Amino acid sequence: MPVVRLSYTPVLCGHCTSAPCVAAAEAAGKPGAAYRRNDGLIILDPAFAGDEALAAALVASCPLGAIYLNKERALAQKCTGCAHLLDNGWSEPRCCDVCPTGALRYGEVSREDTLLAQAETLEPLEGLGSNSYYLNLPKRFVAVTAVDFEADEVLIGAVVTLRNSAGGLVREQATDDFGDVLFNQMPAECYQVEIVMPGYTALTTEADARQKDIVLGDLGLERL
Ligand code: SF4
Ligand code: SF4
Repeated sequence: MPVVRLSYTPVLCGHCTSAPCVAAAEAAGKPGAAYRRNDGLIILDPAFAGDEALAAALVASCPLGAIYLNKERALAQKCTGCAHLLDNGWSEPRCCDVCPTGALRYGEVSREDTLLAQAETLEPLEGLGSNSYYLNLPKRFVAVTAVDFEADEVLIGAVVTLRNSAGGLVREQATDDFGDVLFNQMPAECYQVEIVMPGYTALTTEADARQKDIVLGDLGLERL
């Protein structure tokens, strides 16, 4: 606050190559309860309904929270990759089929796919070989407002620069009509911030965006 950016990100099962849910089923002595099909889809078998301990173990196993509990049936459930449709001749799951903008795609992973080369997987599934890839995941932002407190005015057109720990220029932007700058989609790093405005002493500070977004708020520049 007071700067807020809101993103909606679908959290899809990664049909992980090293799936903790499959390991949890094995650890519970029920290896058939979670298994990998030949096409790579990870399936939770509904035949294991009624086993509350198993269902709880499966729900707890997924670092993404992609498994939910069907309390009525004491059954752990998740995205099936619409395996039943694929087995019946569909070329893609229902979510990809119904998406009118083509935002969701389903297919074999190809090294030649240039979009895939830029894609990321969700952080909680890091190291597990998630097979659900995302483009344009939300990143950190750094927000700042340049102010002349003496004149009780915001500073329009002040140049704000962000440098990384090695001193390299990362981004540069002038404050808008409200004295604001919002650096969006920034890597999670610690930045050196400098604000320069003719007639004022330059101001430097730090924005540590390694763990969270940073709102520096109103920063006052002194007149020369
Ligand atoms: S995302 Fe969760 S539910 Fe899906 S395969 Fe990985 S561990 Fe299992
Ligand atoms: S529509 Fe099918 S593939 Fe898509 S999220 Fe739901 S179960 Fe998974």
